[in-house]
Amino acid sequence: MAVLKDNAYGHGLELMANLASTYGLQKAAVKNLQEAKMISHLFDEILILADHPATQAVSSNISFAAHAFETLLLFPKGTAIHLSIDTGMHRNGVREDKIEAAILRIKERGLNLKGIFTHFRSSDELNSEFFWQQANFERAKVLVKELLKKHGLPSIAFHSCNSAGLLRTQSLGSDDFARCGIAMYGYTTLHPMIETPALKPVLSLWAQKLSTRTIKQGERVGYGGIYEATCDEVISTYDIGYGDGFFRFDGHGELFLANQQTIKGRMSMDSFCTGGDAQEICMFEDATALAKHFRTISYEIITKLSPTLKRVVI
Ligand SMILES: *Cc1c(COP(=O)(O)O)cnc(C)c1O
Repeated sequence: MAVLKDNAYGHGLELMANLASTYGLQKAAVKNLQEAKMISHLFDEILILADHPATQAVSSNISFAAHAFETLLLFPKGTAIHLSIDTGMHRNGVREDKIEAAILRIKERGLNLKGIFTHFRSSDELNSEFFWQQANFERAKVLVKELLKKHGLPSIAFHSCNSAGLLRTQSLGSDDFARCGIAMYGYTTLHPMIETPALKPVLSLWAQKLSTRTIKQGERVGYGGIYEATCDEVISTYDIGYGDGFFRFDGHGELFLANQQTIKGRMSMDSFCTGGDAQEICMFEDATALAKHFRTISYEIITKLSPTLKRVVI
């Protein structure tokens, strides 16, 4: 299942959905109904991960993640759902001792149960929590299979792994599919001690030049004049800033672009400055170093990129 939520982690929802479908992926996961509707013609099934129950009927290939027992009262009859099981993350899902009640409620309310899933909280970390949750899910699966039989319900799909879970085990075990996000975009978040296939980030961010000037030694650049020229130098301004979803660089310390040049001075809302006069500059082709600089994760660097930036497949 291609995880295409949040504008395909900033890569462009329609563009990545078209690629995923071209490459033969038949299932996708998105954030909300709005995203699901944009790509529902491309997949056999679209799972909505983080939206509230729709008030009107939706297309039959769209399913909702049901994150709590109480939510099962809110879906209109016939809604396709995947029931979330809490195996230890305690973010969402029904606990093991409530599974039977949930299945009965699903049957009573005429919901269309298509799958049971869970989510791992530590699949990329060098500890055994992943295996503990996996064992909890395996136990839940056995129980669910028994209950479906007991209550005369059809068989369903089981899924648990995100990218790190799948890269770590390199197997689906007895699951039907994995929900793969970050790895599809070329990143692994696995602890370096865990062997990982080599992946290549697919997105690079390019800025175009707006203007060029020569500044004299001692002149200072941008808001607050944070950067001071140590000699006469050529400076150019480029058309991406924090208003485009790039993290705001405050001008202190060193922030490197893809060519190892630094951003000079504070980043503005719609521009930044750097040395030289190149027509275009690659800001990054791998978000890992930026994530480190801003004390965040690659997910956030790429997901924040404004949907209005032009995306091109090369
Ligand atoms: C985002 C998300 C995924 C994908 O996670 P990656 O680490 O990007 O592979 C899988 N499952 C759920 C429930 C998610 O919210």
